Amino acid sequence: MLKKTLEATKVLCPYCMHYGTLWDFSVMLKRKQGKHLISLAKCECPDCGRGYLKKTLLGIAEMTMEEYGEWFWGANFNKWGIHDKVSWDKLKQRLRAHFSYEDSQMFWNIYWEFKDAGGRDQTREDKEAFEEYKKMYGGEK
Ligand SMILES: [Zn+2]
Repeated sequence: MLKKTLEATKVLCPYCMHYGTLWDFSVMLKRKQGKHLISLAKCECPDCGRGYLKKTLLGIAEMTMEEYGEWFWGANFNKWGIHDKVSWDKLKQRLRAHFSYEDSQMFWNIYWEFKDAGGRDQTREDKEAFEEYKKMYGGEK
């Protein structure tokens, strides 16, 4: 992508809610005589420094708050967890500052849904039960 295109594309860090252009998030591989060589696949947050695939970042940018909430809390409560990657203070502060009341309510509602479902362990059990179910019935036509 051209630098111009990268600068025109706005993205949001899923871990700290830093909002910027795809150019800001680009991983510079080399800089020589005014020319930039950037990674095509990888991105990095200029604020919290977390790295992810460009695919993920662009996917997040396309999401509604509901979809983002599902992604975020799902990833927090699943067995791989993203809890340690998240800059919680920044994220909460930016959620309040940059999003509508409805959007932040939506975000926290999804949190409570996951929490009510029993949190981390319950989600893992559900997942395992579902895998079992798939194994048992998946082959049937
Ligand atoms: Zn970040």
